[in-house]
Amino acid sequence: VRTTVVRLDGDEHLERLTLHDADTGEDKEVPARFMFTFIGARPHTDWLAGVVERDEYGFVLTGSDLIANGGELPAEWSLERAPYPLETSVPGVFAAGDVRAHSVKRVASGVGEGAMAVSLIHRYRSMG
Ligand SMILES: Cc1cc2nc3c(=O)[nH]c(=O)nc-3n(C[C@H](O)[C@H](O)[C@H](O)COP(=O)(O)OP(=O)(O)OC[C@H]3O[C@@H](n4cnc5c(N)ncnc54)[C@H](O)[C@@H]3O)c2cc1C
Repeated sequence: VRTTVVRLDGDEHLERLTLHDADTGEDKEVPARFMFTFIGARPHTDWLAGVVERDEYGFVLTGSDLIANGGELPAEWSLERAPYPLETSVPGVFAAGDVRAHSVKRVASGVGEGAMAVSLIHRYRSMG
């Protein structure tokens, strides 16, 4: 916690990591043969603030997740019908893949949701 890997060293393979302690400002070398890096998992949706509804982490709410609060639709929802699956709080705007709240966060599901979104856009364009 509060530690950053700032350097990797080795000749034929990884041998050492240099760790920076954010609290003390000190660097420490530790022996290591392997390093596992986990990146991602944070949506970059700040630019959508005030445009579509998002959850507390910034993931975009869609479909039935928009009516979770006591069965009420968001105040800005302008249509009689409930949102379609993958539809955001703006009618006709859909979200697919990792950015969508409660999505599975896998490649295959992201691709599948993308295909679903195309079909739902056709439904929106023909039925509103
Ligand atoms: C470390 C790691 C390991 C993983 N391992 C696996 C695995 O083994 N198997 C598996 O199935 N899934 C794995 N996943 C999950 C998988 O990568 C994602 O579920 C998948 O890539 C989601 O696809 P996506 O199209 O929804 O989002 P992304 O692949 O994140 O694509 C979103 C794209 O939008 C771009 N973008 C963002 N903001 C803007 C903007 N404002 N304007 C224009 N473009 C923008 C981004 O640059 C990015 O290219 C892993 C994820 C991580 C982080």
